[in-house]
Amino acid sequence: MSFPDQAAILCSDGLRFQNPPRAIALVSVHGDPAIDVGGEEAGGQNVYVRQVGETLAQIGWQVDMFTRKVHGEQPEIVQHHPRCRTVRLVAGSQDFVPRDQIFDDLPEFVAQVLDFQRQQPYDYALVHSNYWLSGWVGLQLKQKLGIPQVHTYHSLGAIKYRNVENIPLIATTRLAVEKACLDIADRVVATSPQEKNDMKRLVSEQGRIEIIPCGTDVERFGQFSRAAARAHLGIDPQRQVIFYVGRFDPRKGIEILVRAVAHAQARKTGNLILVIGGGSRPGRTDGLERERIESLVNDLGLADLTQFPGRISEADLPAYYAAADVSVVPSYYEPFGLVAIEAMASGTPVIASDVGGLQYTVIPEQTGLLVPPRAVESLAAAIDRVLTDEGWRLQLGQAAQARVRTYFSWQGVAQQLSGLYARLLALDSQDMPAHSTEADVKLY
Ligand code: UDP
Repeated sequence: MSFPDQAAILCSDGLRFQNPPRAIALVSVHGDPAIDVGGEEAGGQNVYVRQVGETLAQIGWQVDMFTRKVHGEQPEIVQHHPRCRTVRLVAGSQDFVPRDQIFDDLPEFVAQVLDFQRQQPYDYALVHSNYWLSGWVGLQLKQKLGIPQVHTYHSLGAIKYRNVENIPLIATTRLAVEKACLDIADRVVATSPQEKNDMKRLVSEQGRIEIIPCGTDVERFGQFSRAAARAHLGIDPQRQVIFYVGRFDPRKGIEILVRAVAHAQARKTGNLILVIGGGSRPGRTDGLERERIESLVNDLGLADLTQFPGRISEADLPAYYAAADVSVVPSYYEPFGLVAIEAMASGTPVIASDVGGLQYTVIPEQTGLLVPPRAVESLAAAIDRVLTDEGWRLQLGQAAQARVRTYFSWQGVAQQLSGLYARLLALDSQDMPAHSTEADVKLY
């Protein structure tokens, strides 16, 4: 098999590949990069895989993103860029299956990837797996195709199971696969120094770990002023807006935010709006958490000031962040937390739990505040501090935006991943776009 002749293709920035591009298999079994995020089980991983895939394609890589087909009408191929597509494979039933029940279908998924590979005019040079389920698939592909594997966890079982009451049956398998990934993969990408420490401490002392953060679209999230965003959404310029967006999952700590708002002095002004965005249609598994939060809001007498806009579309999200006075990320644990950098990119200060990747993205007193997780009174006090000092709030927002622009753009992230792949494949510089060296990328 040979690579297609792509020598004439110009990259988005005008750079020309000297040689045909290398093909990457980006595996995300349960996190379909082509679906809308914000609902049941679709969040940061879906965004990460799509953005990484599309941006790597702009640099010049050929990227096939493999995911599981979850209903009959879904197209098998979704083309995102001439060199990047989502490939949906049938493994098990063509229905939504919660991620804890997918493991038994993975051998079929691997067989489908290998079958798809045989039909392509190019060979995958490297597999990049996402989350432990895909990590297992990646380990099989590494062995069967003799190619290097890069793995990103997105969530660690060793941490997740500390915070849940009912540990699922699949836990033993998950922990074993996560250890195997760290021991065997050619490189594991930690998205923050905190995640790297957690891996070393809780998963395995072995492992070749490289820190490459998640990113965000700094242009899209920087497009609105607060006034323009409020006019767009019809929000009164005089009101103070606290914003949460994310999946309805108990780990996200929405309950703590609701209790903190009930406790905050700012509530007494009668001028507050709490927007809680996200969640899928009624009847889905995340509906239970949404119902629980809605009844808490009612019980605490917050119904008049709280809005539940549901899943916020990609098109509306920049306006919501920019309209907010403060964005709150009250998670019990967060390996990275895309929402924090999206808010920061929009010039909005972030109050976040002092955990995981949020300790990396949010600089306390400079771009926002960190508070202990599950601490209602501390969160209430932090909300009051930010909302009562308009000048400081603006300063925090500006510093937040500058930080994201410097360290967390998708372009920078994809450049770092591209450099990592090139090193693992021992590509020489003429096989790569001229600018894809790590030296060009500011890390910290
Ligand atoms: N999201 C969205 N609309 C919603 C809720 C969430 O677009 O209604 C997006 C959000 O903007 C972010 C992602 O879903 O890009 C959530 O990622 P994060 O890392 O914060 O959390 P995860 O879902 O991975 O736990």
